[in-house]
Amino acid sequence: MALYNQQELYIYNSQATKKEKFLPVNEGLVGMYVCGPTVYNKVHLGNCRTFISFDLVFRYLKHLDYKVRYVRNITDAGHLENDAEEGEDRIAKKARLEELEPMEVVQKYTVDFHDILREFNNIPPSIEPTATGHIVEQIEIIKTIVDKGLAYEANGSVYFDVMEYHKNNHYGILSGRKIEDLIANTRELAGQSEKKNPQDFALWKKAEPQHIMRWPSPWGVGFPGWHLECTAMSTKYLGEEFDIHGGGMDLKFPHHECEIAQGKAATGKDPVHYWMHANMLTLNGKKMAKSTGNNILPEEIFTGNSKHLSKAYAPTVARFFMLQAHYRSILDFSDEALQAAEKGFDRLMEAMQQIDKLPTSNTSSLDVSNWKQKCYDAMNDDFNSPILIAHLFDAVKMINAIKVEKEYISKEDLQILKESMHSFVFDVLGLKSKEAAVQKDGNSTQVDSLVKMLINLRAEARANKDFATSDKIRDQLFEMGVELKDNKDGTVFTVKA
Ligand code: AMP
Ligand code: ZN
Repeated sequence: MALYNQQELYIYNSQATKKEKFLPVNEGLVGMYVCGPTVYNKVHLGNCRTFISFDLVFRYLKHLDYKVRYVRNITDAGHLENDAEEGEDRIAKKARLEELEPMEVVQKYTVDFHDILREFNNIPPSIEPTATGHIVEQIEIIKTIVDKGLAYEANGSVYFDVMEYHKNNHYGILSGRKIEDLIANTRELAGQSEKKNPQDFALWKKAEPQHIMRWPSPWGVGFPGWHLECTAMSTKYLGEEFDIHGGGMDLKFPHHECEIAQGKAATGKDPVHYWMHANMLTLNGKKMAKSTGNNILPEEIFTGNSKHLSKAYAPTVARFFMLQAHYRSILDFSDEALQAAEKGFDRLMEAMQQIDKLPTSNTSSLDVSNWKQKCYDAMNDDFNSPILIAHLFDAVKMINAIKVEKEYISKEDLQILKESMHSFVFDVLGLKSKEAAVQKDGNSTQVDSLVKMLINLRAEARANKDFATSDKIRDQLFEMGVELKDNKDGTVFTVKA
């Protein structure tokens, strides 16, 4: 039986502002869309936190045996400066400053984004579509919305008519913003712009002659508005109604509010069943952001080369640090917090190594099944990774108590403990031991050669009947997570994840 039938998952739906039982549109299948990065700059640690939060969601859904189609886009056009309707395209601006083709900027920072997320052990999404690859789909949606009388053309641009939409729908359903407040708070004066009302947003913008990213459309040469790409790509790959849509908290308004309006206007359906918003990573109490310079880059963490840090930290430690907070809580970054996370991480990994060596008894003094269900309960409660981690540390205590024979465990229970720890630590949280990280991250040939050299030394020692040395090599490698196995053809080794 699929695990999702045995566990009841609850997700905090930002639109309903409460936790709701998760029931996908199609049994056993999950469609999940997450807004990806605008690739005009290196991702900072704050961006990474959001993508790690949704990697946790992806991993847990997969662990529950759901077949997940995870779509995360790349914004490579249409995102203007200050998220506003005016100003330069962020990618085009960077291209001008760096004297590159816009697509060179896109390529450079997309590669950087992938490299960094791989360091953090994020699983790639199932589909990673780009805005520029879906111009045709975006134009089709605009045509539909215009035909329905919910968008209008003005001087080569097309705007979504918020007031017209709001007559029969609810603009503000996600963010809780009131139309009257939006009107009152606008800085734009009526009649000053080509829009009917200041709160209207662009579906298509006319390209000025200097605008280098431009496409033909029924309304003239231009480019799509930022919000539209996500509607086009989520509808194309997940359908008019799908299960989960995620992104950082800062995208709730206007981006996601506009996505709902566009979807509802085009299809008559509310596109998303569960809206999930990940909270911000802060530095010195302020949001990490590319624009303000108040941020830290992942490579600074990995090298320790930063005024904010006393040393380098492995990517998996930084990941552990982030997962120690619930995705809906604000998390403040500091060197002290990373140091504390590293201590905890090392203790956890040490225990993972001990599990294999634990003695067993006929019965158990510990209730392992109850502990395992508590781990599931934590994750079923809106992916509560800090509570899960607290239970994993209870297991660390159990392991250490069994080791010194203060507690005892049956063979069957030990198997449950081992399998569950492995699933939660490596598969669900996506952590990896620092040794495995070295193995995976490009130094594998050196690690291979070193281990092979030690295997040869051990073989020589054994040939000389120096069993003290040969056993020492095997045991010390084992402690480092490298297991040697002798078979008829010689010795092979495995590195524990
Ligand atoms: P951007 O490339 O600016 O569109 O951002 C990519 C993702 O990172 C979005 O989902 C943002 O909400 C998210 N994000 C931006 N800043 C932070 C931050 N300080 N903490 C967490 N997530 C962030
Ligand atoms: Zn989006």
